Amino acid sequence: MDVQRIIPVLGDITKQDVDAVVNAANNAMRGGGGVDGAIHRAGGPAVLDDCIRRFPQGLATGDAGWTTAGNLPAKWVIHTVGPNHAAGQRDRRLLESCYRRALEEADELGARSIAFPLISAGIYGWPKEDAIRAAVETIVASPSQVGRVALVALDEATVAAIREVLLGS
Ligand code: ADP
Repeated sequence: MDVQRIIPVLGDITKQDVDAVVNAANNAMRGGGGVDGAIHRAGGPAVLDDCIRRFPQGLATGDAGWTTAGNLPAKWVIHTVGPNHAAGQRDRRLLESCYRRALEEADELGARSIAFPLISAGIYGWPKEDAIRAAVETIVASPSQVGRVALVALDEATVAAIREVLLGS
């Protein structure tokens, strides 16, 4: 994917006007903290209902799957489970797989725009600079047809760090 299609965005992932928002979910897919909590709060109970219906066994680390977005502006939530660095899961290929698999799901859905948070960079404790590099490298290497990819962060320092990595890509 052309790096020009990746846009750093300061803001809340639940407010993004895109076809698909990516959730930093956990294996159980029954809600959690951080991005996951925010998406379930803003999306409403339809998101959890669809998680239970479509993913009775949850999702493996590094995998991705979609549900309805409920009350969010997006059409779909693409849930993906990053490696829990804080718990000792440090295989970077699993983190890269999250971005690759989420973009594959987006292509299957025909999504034209997608918003990612920095998977694993919060509660799961992946070092932020490397989390940004993994995100950008994997999105750039993807054959995805998605036209616009927002990389969303809550603070200006992180957005500036994303911008830096994009400039060097
Ligand atoms: P993980 O459990 O995969 O680490 P988190 O949800 O804890 O996921 O955090 C992932 C990243 O998303 C962190 O950098 C965190 O600061 C950021 N984040 C948390 N809430 C939001 C939100 N509502 N919108 C955008 N980014 C968010």
